Amino acid sequence: MEIFDSHAHYDDEAFDVDREELLRRLPSAGITGILNAGVTVSSSKECIRLAEKFDFCHAAVGIHPEDVMEAQPNDLETIKELAASCSVVAIGEIGLDYHWDVPHDIQKQFFAKQLELANALHLPVIVHDRDAHADTLAMLQKYHPCGVVHSYSGSVETARELLKLGLYLGFTGAVTFKNNKKARGILEMVPHDRVLCETDCPYMAPEPVRGRRSDSSMLPHTLARIGEFMGISVEEAARITACNARTLFSINKREMPK
Ligand SMILES: [Zn+2]
Repeated sequence: MEIFDSHAHYDDEAFDVDREELLRRLPSAGITGILNAGVTVSSSKECIRLAEKFDFCHAAVGIHPEDVMEAQPNDLETIKELAASCSVVAIGEIGLDYHWDVPHDIQKQFFAKQLELANALHLPVIVHDRDAHADTLAMLQKYHPCGVVHSYSGSVETARELLKLGLYLGFTGAVTFKNNKKARGILEMVPHDRVLCETDCPYMAPEPVRGRRSDSSMLPHTLARIGEFMGISVEEAARITACNARTLFSINKREMPK
């Protein structure tokens, strides 16, 4: 199986104890690509460092909506500079999160500026949308970037609108949880060339390892469920989602580890 983890946070402190050892082992578990998404300037720099060290790792740079209050005035300028690195394939993780008490207008300003940056650089975006479906959709309709709404948690109707914009939808281990009816409905209708598979590690470990620190080697559980809902085998789900990630992020096959 060829597995591409389209959204990971191996820069997270949860991996401080064994980060590089773990990453070195992942190709033997079938992992041929990982996209680490930055959430702050320093996290974005670490994503780039990992991409420079490991052939199969790639980087996205950006400021996450939960981190905008701590951002420094020139951080967006720094993100723009970091985006010029050849290991950077996307702007992210950016978006809106209304679950926490972070002022919506400031989140929207950061989201808008980073959408403009992605469009100016012709890079796809990795969008985070938590409890902010209507505003996220409106911003995406306004700026019309290419990219993915990761860990998709909205309705079938919103999914249809996002697909109309040409966007991809990313699915995590949450598709294996008991209350996954919504994900089933979306995966039953989504075109096969618009689905990505991701860990969002260290979070969202799939059943039957739910609750543990997640990593890319757990993706076969997630892919099995994605395949079940799409009516295809786990191998086919792995192949399709890897191919889609390589297409969206313009990552060539020849960069795959030997
Ligand atoms: Zn994430």
